[in-house]
Formats: sequence, structure tokens, C-alpha cells
Amino acid sequence: MVAIACLRCPSDECRTKMQPIPLPISTLQHKPLNPEAWPNDTDWLYVACPDCKQVSAYLRFDLWNFQDVLQRPHADKDWIRISFRCEAEGCGIPIQFHVLAEPTVTQTTETELREKLSSGHWKGVSQCGHPIAIRQDQRVIFERVRGRMQGYSLADPLWRKI
Ligand SMILES: [Zn+2]
Ligand SMILES: [Zn+2]
Repeated sequence: MVAIACLRCPSDECRTKMQPIPLPISTLQHKPLNPEAWPNDTDWLYVACPDCKQVSAYLRFDLWNFQDVLQRPHADKDWIRISFRCEAEGCGIPIQFHVLAEPTVTQTTETELREKLSSGHWKGVSQCGHPIAIRQDQRVIFERVRGRMQGYSLADPLWRKI
């Protein structure tokens, strides 16, 4: 048996809300001197449910036991962090959330993710309350999550780039 940190989609409309959403394996590793790693009790982690596409904010995870790491749901996928600024009504608030996607981020993956962002594929909580959407030519940063995830923080130097 192996314990894996998981989230559970809180949406009432979610078909698989009882199904765990496994976080990166490294979430449980104790790495000192990395205060930004989630969970740190202050930063919310925004994650899209792989089933109902609802984005929710989390402060905590649950531990689930699996036979081995490959038995966890979505074991063939990787986490991608999506960051951009809200363009609604000149809002400008940084928006950031995580999605599960195929393990290689190619130009095609980015194009597909951009199309999903433009078409309102993901719903739910944004940092400013506006719908999660982008303009056609808007700057968006897609990053594969390496190591531990980081919660949403306005202090992230990433926001100076977009
Ligand atoms: Zn869901
Ligand atoms: Zn906004």
C-alpha cells in the first residue's frame, strides 16, 4: 500500500465527486527550506476537476491508500499550471489553476489548452470572480509541475512576466 495526497471535487454536479484527484507524488515529501510548497496554510491551491472541469480552491488534501502508485486515477497524466491575467472589464487580476493533461506539453497541447480557455471549458472559482476565459492573443504561461505544487500567491515573480 502507498498513501497518496488527493483532493476531492466539492461540486454538487460532479459525477465522480467521490473519486480522489491525486496530487503529484512529491506532495508528501518533506523538503525543508521550501516554504512556498503547498500546503503552507496560507496559499490556496486552485485545481480543475478532471471530470466536471470545475475549478475549486483547496487548503488541504486527504490521504488515500492505493495498491501502488500506478493504481491511482490519472496515473498516466501530468499536472500543468496555467497562469494569465483576467481580461474581463480591465480587471487584470492574476488567474492561476492546475489541470491534469497528457504528460508532454508540446505546441499542440498549448494550442488545445488555449482553445479550451477561450471557449469557457473550465468553470468555477477564479481569483477575482470573473469567468475563467482568455482573449485570442492573450499571454498565457503553461508549465509542467515539477516536484511539489505551489499555491496561488501574488508575490510569485511569475506575475511580473505577464
Ligand atoms: Zn468534479
Ligand atoms: Zn477578473
